[in-house]
Amino acid sequence: MTDSSKLSLNPRMSKRTFLAGSAASLALSAKPFSVRYAKAQASEWDLIIVGGGTAGMPAAIFAAERGARVLLVDKAPVLGGTMDRSTGQVAAAGTVWQKELGIEDSPDAHYDDVMRINRNTSDPLLTRLLVDNAADTLNWFAARGFTVMDHHPVMGGGHEPFTTRRYQWNENGAKAFQAIMDPMVEAAQKSGRLEILVSTGAVDLVQDETGAVRGVVTENDSGERVDYRSKFVLLTRGGCASNPRMFEDLHGVPLFCEVAYPYSQGQGITLGLGAGGYVRGGDKYATLFGTILESDYFPAPSIGGPSLSPQRRPPWEVFVNVHGKRFVREDHPSVAHREYVLGQQPGLRHWAVFDQEVLDSAPPFIPRWSREELEDHFVDHPMFSKAATIGELGVKAGVNPHNLEIEIAAYNDAILNDRPDAMGREHRPAPIAKGPFYAIRLQGWNVMSYAGLGVDGQLRVTRADGTPIPNLYAAGEVIGNASTSGKALTNGMGVTPALTFGRLLGQKIIPLTA
Ligand SMILES: Cc1cc2nc3c(=O)[nH]c(=O)nc-3n(C[C@H](O)[C@H](O)[C@H](O)COP(=O)(O)OP(=O)(O)OC[C@H]3O[C@@H](n4cnc5c(N)ncnc54)[C@H](O)[C@@H]3O)c2cc1C
Repeated sequence: MTDSSKLSLNPRMSKRTFLAGSAASLALSAKPFSVRYAKAQASEWDLIIVGGGTAGMPAAIFAAERGARVLLVDKAPVLGGTMDRSTGQVAAAGTVWQKELGIEDSPDAHYDDVMRINRNTSDPLLTRLLVDNAADTLNWFAARGFTVMDHHPVMGGGHEPFTTRRYQWNENGAKAFQAIMDPMVEAAQKSGRLEILVSTGAVDLVQDETGAVRGVVTENDSGERVDYRSKFVLLTRGGCASNPRMFEDLHGVPLFCEVAYPYSQGQGITLGLGAGGYVRGGDKYATLFGTILESDYFPAPSIGGPSLSPQRRPPWEVFVNVHGKRFVREDHPSVAHREYVLGQQPGLRHWAVFDQEVLDSAPPFIPRWSREELEDHFVDHPMFSKAATIGELGVKAGVNPHNLEIEIAAYNDAILNDRPDAMGREHRPAPIAKGPFYAIRLQGWNVMSYAGLGVDGQLRVTRADGTPIPNLYAAGEVIGNASTSGKALTNGMGVTPALTFGRLLGQKIIPLTA
């Protein structure tokens, strides 16, 4: 341990211990970097990067390339973070792939589209920073071998489409970005510009009496604590989407689905708070339309992906909330609209209700399941109910049976008498009239944190009054997905800003001097 007599450790931080994650479940398929202990503990680093994932890796590569001495610390035994599982869908205006196809686009058009989709709820400065720099990031990857799927860019995938084709991904998801960065990180390590500590978490920030950040206190898996000094600290530790308690505290919504990187425990948020920062964006939580969970014990794994896009499979089912009421036009063409309305339903839950006729005639509701597999779930799975009457179905499914009877009768009546649907639905292939009747409970969910540390337009972590905490920067999910995605699932607004802001911070934003 170095002499820290002139530096005060922040006592608040060491008391904070958020839940330990299920790190054991991490698939350790990525290449492990050697565990090394930084040689020059007593000397000062130019930059310490806390978290070597989607945002941290490009930051390290670019800062080292600039000539800075960089220490990269990661709690996991491997680098890469969420890139091990992220679909890696990214968006930018002015990419080489657009140029190849003659697609005209501009950062202004990208900005307008993002704001249209999220109803002006993302941070304007950060959204601007992203759209102005995303193409340089993706073109940098393209120049190093990153490729996209055939027929990409596209306007959209599972989320609300853009008005032009600027959205793409690689068949290996975000792993394809990591595959390009791994050798560059290794080269930076060999050059002596970059030191990497894996299996080592940052447990505290070192601040001087003015509040300026001066370093990081780390703890390795053996419990050994070391205090490293640096001119700047960058927090790229990811979000809290594997920490159920913190996730619910910050969003007011339970963490329903177990899908995020196990090390996404929100400790970056805690560190920033301890240094004087604040959290924003939890109120912008946006839900995905619905998945089927394994159990009611949240967070639970998803067991099946229903086909909910009316463009791919026009709906045969009726959707109701826990009150047994329909709440959305099931075939509304806008997924953002359907998700937004679901976000206003109790528990973000909805039930797909149908009858034997639909089961026999409609294309499969869960495309990856066989008919036998689906029927097996109606025997004893808590999300699946089957009954002889609609009223009984409501009781079994936990949906107001009286209202359900009224809603289904009204739906059928409008079809049989050729009257418009109460919700404006157009695709009404058959009434729900032939028993037995079925209900599948679907859960709104999300894979990332919307809440995160407040930063300014230069990605400096700020206090609630907007003043920056000297020397402390942040990027990636630790600044909250809402900062660039807003209250919506806006195409590519997780990976694109993580890579782009990481790059920009290492390349030019942090005033590093070689
Ligand atoms: C299944 C899934 C699919 C997704 N698909 C998309 C998509 O298609 N498009 C999109 O835009 N977004 C997507 N996202 C979101 C996006 O991938 C993430 O928001 C983004 O990758 C987060 O990057 P990050 O650098 O903030 O975090 P990470 O990449 O997770 O990196 C954080 C790093 O910090 C480390 N760390 C954690 N705690 C500590 C500590 N105490 N000390 C030191 N290090 C620590 C972690 O080990 C990790 O390596 C998806 C997310 C998931 C889970």
